[in-house]
Amino acid sequence: DQIQEERLKYLTDEKRIKAVTVLFSDLEGRLHMLDYDKKFLVKSWDNLTFDGSSIRGFTAQRESDLRLGMDWSAFYWAPSDIFGSGKVLVFGEVIDKDGSAYTGDIRGVLKTFSNAQFQKNGYTLNAANEIEGFLFKGADAERSYNETGKFEYVNTGGYYHSLPGDPLRQFIDTSAEVQRAMGFENEKDHPEVAPSQFEINYGYGEVVAAADQIQLYKLICRQVATKMGLTASFLPKPVVGVNGSGMHTNVSISKGGKNIFWDPKGEEKLSKFGWQFIDRILTHGNDICLALNASVNAYRRLDPHFEAPNQIKASAVDRGSMVRIPIGNERSSRVEVRSVGPDANPYLVLYSVFKTGLDGEIAKIKNLRQADRYLPDNIYDALANFTSAEWTSTMLGADVKARYAELKQASADRCPRLLGTFVKPQEVQYHHEVY
Ligand code: GLN
Ligand code: MG
Ligand code: MG
Ligand code: MG
Repeated sequence: DQIQEERLKYLTDEKRIKAVTVLFSDLEGRLHMLDYDKKFLVKSWDNLTFDGSSIRGFTAQRESDLRLGMDWSAFYWAPSDIFGSGKVLVFGEVIDKDGSAYTGDIRGVLKTFSNAQFQKNGYTLNAANEIEGFLFKGADAERSYNETGKFEYVNTGGYYHSLPGDPLRQFIDTSAEVQRAMGFENEKDHPEVAPSQFEINYGYGEVVAAADQIQLYKLICRQVATKMGLTASFLPKPVVGVNGSGMHTNVSISKGGKNIFWDPKGEEKLSKFGWQFIDRILTHGNDICLALNASVNAYRRLDPHFEAPNQIKASAVDRGSMVRIPIGNERSSRVEVRSVGPDANPYLVLYSVFKTGLDGEIAKIKNLRQADRYLPDNIYDALANFTSAEWTSTMLGADVKARYAELKQASADRCPRLLGTFVKPQEVQYHHEVY
């Protein structure tokens, strides 16, 4: 197609480009990057294979060869101070032997869902994520946590407090600048409520691009921090007693440029369509929790005392509700899903939210939006919900559902003694899942 031709021509003509980094993510959302020499890639891009058995959640050994396709529309110029000189980034598509999209590649699942059912009919699924994280001293803080038993803040500020010379401010400025250079539309960035915590917000985008940008955001933050001798951590609750980090997922749907979640006469100025979307998410709130909160640590965050939700409710004001309806206008009207950890697979998060909001069921529970229902407070309960739910089989297919559950069971089993008992902060051994 046209984009493909344009990109290939650009690669060929642009003498400064030496290599192309192809990115894809495993089932848990870990980002994988393969660098191809430009000249090789331009010749052979439609015939690339890789060993799927070495990627977590992908194929078993016996069927290990997978193909790697290119999504030429997901093409980013890579600033050299972060990525090394002469590179561009392209998101890859994992393709099964028979040429179909590989079901373990949730990016492909999300793209197929968005294109086949919606884009084709003139609808656009939009997403904007507010990704929070912590900046800690030491370039390897997550790994050294288990030896030292603590994370060290780089500052003691809080929401909006940070002086220009502060390392947290410098980190935010540099990360935002790298993002701008890659085409992110920065909206605002600020130190968050907890000491040493940050949030950098950029404009919303079509759902697949939005998920790609989450992966790039975390990659950029980690690289910038490392260069400063610091660590950017996306653990949901790295420090006991202060706010954790969320990845609030704001979504809306537009048709012909018109936001169909907006209705100035609707309750909270949200359309009936928007409310049905919410009702489906609430109905399946327990079923999909494991997809949105993918680590043992994520369940420590879900505490309303720290502005994180634990209730399966929808509210315009209550930040303890998993769904919030932020005040908006025609352009910004949206639904905010707050029960999401920043270490979850962003493709799986966005797929689960849209698939559930659009195709899920609406339970006949009295007062569904305000009923007393709670999210699981530990990964074992979340696993049990996820596994027993019929909806998750419909959503992911039995095979991918089983593989995901297996990986999460393994995460849970790595630190079983923390569950159910009160653990003093200094005894907490963080379970490291570095994405
Ligand atoms: N850090 C909070 C969370 O875990 C959110 C706080 C905020 O954005 N005001 O979700
Ligand atoms: Mg925010
Ligand atoms: Mg925030
Ligand atoms: Mg928010």
